[in-house]
Amino acid sequence: MVSDCCVCKVSQGVIDNVSFHSFPKNDERREQWLKSVNMTVSKKSCVCSQHFRETDFIYKVVGDSVRRFLKQTACPTLSLDNNSIRKNSEELNFDTKRVCNPRYMGDLRKEHFMSESVYFIVKKYYDETQKKLNTLHQKVNRLQKKFNTMEELTKHLKSIGLLSDETEEALQVGPEGHA
Ligand SMILES: [Zn+2]
Repeated sequence: MVSDCCVCKVSQGVIDNVSFHSFPKNDERREQWLKSVNMTVSKKSCVCSQHFRETDFIYKVVGDSVRRFLKQTACPTLSLDNNSIRKNSEELNFDTKRVCNPRYMGDLRKEHFMSESVYFIVKKYYDETQKKLNTLHQKVNRLQKKFNTMEELTKHLKSIGLLSDETEEALQVGPEGHA
C-alpha cells in the first residue's frame, strides 16, 4: 500500500528509513492523534515515523529484517508544522545507507558533515590536495622524461667511447645505477 503522510505529505519510499503508521483503531487513542495533528483525516490516513519520538517505537525481528512498530502509547508529537519537517526529512535522508557509507573521498556531500562550514573546510582541503597531487604528477612526468633523455645521452656517449665505466657509474643513470 502506497501512502502519504497526512502531516508532511512525504510519500512512502521517498525517504529511506521512514515508516508509515495508520491511525489507531481505538477511539481514545485515535482522538489523541487527531488532536495532535490537528487536521481532518480519512480512514486510510497515515502518519510517518518522523513525527514520533524514538521512545515511541519498538523494534521486532520479522523474518530476516528488523521492523519498527509503534508502542500502544505512542502519539505523534514531532514536526507537526511544515517548516520543521523539511529540516527533519533532510536529516533522515542523510541517514540512508547509500549516503551514510560513502566509499570515496569524492562521494562526500554536504549532508555528511555536522555543518556547512565543516563541509567547506574539508572540501577546500580536498580540492587543494587534489591540485597538489596533479602538480606532483606533472612534475614526476617531467622528471621521468628528463631522466629518459639523460639515459639515452649516456648510452650514446658510451657507444661512441666518450664515457668511461667509472663516469657512467658516477652519473648513476646507467642500468646499474640507483636512479
Ligand atoms: Zn510525515
